[in-house]
Formats: sequence, structure tokens, C-alpha cells
Amino acid sequence: MNKEIFRVLKEINSLLNKSQALTKEIDSEKARLDKIDHQIKYKNSQAVELEQKSRELKSQLSAKEAMLHEAGKQNQAAIANANKAISQKEIDAALSQRQKSEETIEKLNEEIFSLMEEEEKQDEELNSINLFLQGVKEGREEIVNDIEKINTPKLEELNRYRNRINELYPQIPNPHREHFENLVKKDLPKGPITRLNQKNFCELCGTQASSTKVKSIEEQLQYRTCSGCSRVIIPESSQYL
Ligand SMILES: [Zn+2]
Repeated sequence: MNKEIFRVLKEINSLLNKSQALTKEIDSEKARLDKIDHQIKYKNSQAVELEQKSRELKSQLSAKEAMLHEAGKQNQAAIANANKAISQKEIDAALSQRQKSEETIEKLNEEIFSLMEEEEKQDEELNSINLFLQGVKEGREEIVNDIEKINTPKLEELNRYRNRINELYPQIPNPHREHFENLVKKDLPKGPITRLNQKNFCELCGTQASSTKVKSIEEQLQYRTCSGCSRVIIPESSQYL
């Protein structure tokens, strides 16, 4: 290794740090959508639930209506029976039949009325959910456009960093290049390189390097890594490159 290669590592490291910061900004911008998407999801599930209830109500209603129709027929029959009854016993039976069917009709009418009221309430609720969803979708679209406007230049910048990094990689001799690229893939916080402090402790993880290792790095410019955090240790002499 020579100093120029350490300079390359430092440049890649700096580009990676800038990329990390930029990616964070891009993600936090995108996160503005999460809240609104959460609301949309919640309201959609409410709508699905209401539609299901509405189907149940409709089938209850049609069952009650069929029962009402049947009770009406029984009432007609009771009236006919009363008209043609001769004995008191027959009259009494027909009247009791008529009374029963009229009670059933009244009860069914009440039940049907309350089901219809419930249906109306549900329809209103569903309408207001749909109105909300419509409005929120328009708002979402505005936010999407806004985010795109803010993030597009950032994504372009990120792309420039990536291209520059890819230009720099071939300047690192193998096998170090392969090793360094794998290290980059780990996406370590603060990047893939580190330095030692005056007492030879890694600045990022605090692991101390042996004096032999320090010597090989500082004097022979060897490519060595920190045993604590696996970052490449940059020699002191390349600090200002
Ligand atoms: Zn370390």
C-alpha cells in the first residue's frame, strides 16, 4: 500500500458518510407518508367492516320482510275464517288467530323499522369514511409530489457519490479492494475506516492495537484492520491527505 491508496480509502469513507446522512434525510422525508398511509389503512379496514355489517343487515331485513309477508297471509286467512265462522268456538279461534298475526305483524314492523334505521346510520358512516378517504388521497398525492421535489436532487447527489465510489474502488489493489468492498457492504456507522489515538486505541471502538500492528501500519503502510470493530486503520501520516 502507499499513501495514495489510503487517501482513496479516506475519500470513499467520506463519500459513504455523506451518503449515509443523505439517505437518512431522504428516508425521513418519505416517512411523512407513513402517518397518512396508516390513517388510510385504518379507515379502509373500517369501511370493509361496515360493508360486511351492511350485508348482514340486508339479509336480516329480507328475512324479516319474508316473515312479514307470511304473517300478512295468516292475517288474511284469519279474517276469512272469521267471516265464514258459524259457531262461537270457530269465531273465537279465528279472532285469536287474527290477534296473534296482528301482534306478529306489529312486532315485525318495529324490527324492520329499527333495522332500517341502523342501515341508514351505517350508510351515513360509510359515506363519511369514503369522503375522508377521497380527501386524504388527494392530500397524499400532494405530499408525494412535495417529497419527490425535495428528494429528487438528493437522490441525484447520492447517485453522484455512488458513481464516484465506484470510480475509486479500482484504485485499491487486491486483495484489499475485495476486503474493503465487503467492509463497505456492512454499512458500519461512521464508515469503514478508523484511526488510532495517541495511546493507540481505536477512535471508534476503543480497542487497543499492539505495537507491532501500529508499527506495520505507520512505518510500512500496511493494510490492517482493528480487531475490535474490523475497520481499516488509517496511518497517522495520511491524516491530512
Ligand atoms: Zn475499532
